[in-house]
Amino acid sequence: MTGPSPKDWVKAIHPYVPGKSATGSGMRAAKLSSNENPLGTSEKARAAFAAQAAGLERYPDGGATALRESIAQRHGLDPDRIICGTGSDEVLHQAAGAFAGPGDEVIYVRYGFAVYEIAIRRVGATPVIAPDRDYATDVDAILAAVTERTRVVFVANPNNPTSTYTPREEIARLHAGLPDHVLLVLDQAYAEYLEDDEDDGGLALAMSASNVLVTRTFSKIFGLAAERIGWGYAAAPIIDAMHRIRLPFNVTIAGQHAAIAALGDEDFVATSRAHNAKWRSWLTAEIDKLGNAGLRTLESKANFLLVLFNGAVTAESAYHSLMERGYIVRWLPGQGLGHGLRVSIGSEEETRGFAAALREIVGEAA
Ligand SMILES: *Cc1c(COP(=O)(O)O)cnc(C)c1O
Repeated sequence: MTGPSPKDWVKAIHPYVPGKSATGSGMRAAKLSSNENPLGTSEKARAAFAAQAAGLERYPDGGATALRESIAQRHGLDPDRIICGTGSDEVLHQAAGAFAGPGDEVIYVRYGFAVYEIAIRRVGATPVIAPDRDYATDVDAILAAVTERTRVVFVANPNNPTSTYTPREEIARLHAGLPDHVLLVLDQAYAEYLEDDEDDGGLALAMSASNVLVTRTFSKIFGLAAERIGWGYAAAPIIDAMHRIRLPFNVTIAGQHAAIAALGDEDFVATSRAHNAKWRSWLTAEIDKLGNAGLRTLESKANFLLVLFNGAVTAESAYHSLMERGYIVRWLPGQGLGHGLRVSIGSEEETRGFAAALREIVGEAA
């Protein structure tokens, strides 16, 4: 018996590997592997979520009208040009699904976000990887990879897992260099961690250009990863095409209410941003001190660091030793980063503990 045969392009997909949430030994661990908010979730969002427990028999508003209006108001956007998704992951899949298929090419950078390759292959399109520039997005390399078959370009800014940031002028230059028929997807999952003067101009571009989609998520600074809510903003014809393949009731009722409340709790977001900035720079300095052991970090604009290992202690052995000490980080050999560990900025206790554990591991090897 052979059974049904999956499509070749589906067989070509390497399944997404999520961050581990337990060490395997049952010990209490610091989960620094998924870039979640160490401060939790806004109390207002939790209350709004809980209030929806009475009404579980009803379908949600499939158009997420109230949520789109809240997002539009917060960012000065047209609510009709916002689409919501089951996480921004779904919005990325909608973009690939609506604009690419067999025979088409979709570009992303080496060390780009792992979901892009899955979204591209899922629809039978061909992934094209543009080289990086010291792990960061190289606009010239992307433009050089464009062919007449290119349909979509995915750029995360800041990028995950490298934490690098592409400034506004470079994003503008990328957009200016792309043909009109190529959709530029700017994945801003970490945008709320940027300082106010660090806007990469994505939303302004999406307001006026016919070929720019910006995606955002409630999973990161808003602390609602469990609820799976993201959104995208683009010209009306782009959003119209994506709606055609969107699942009809893709954001839960509780999720929609929690997200609206989360948007309204600006204090929680500001506190989260400040916590991240403080402990990110503290941890960066701690890792810099391990430079003579071959460790370095890239300058991060997100809520995590990528630590690169080029000495006696390898990323792989540090990954296992950290796990034994109760610190779960992300080792990414599947993404060409066998020499790197991605570590989320945790609580003060977790961040201090992680730094001490890493110091110990590197010290033992010296
Ligand atoms: C976390 C992340 C996302 C989104 O995740 P969702 O939970 O699906 O909203 C999207 N892009 C990047 C680069 C991310 O790191």
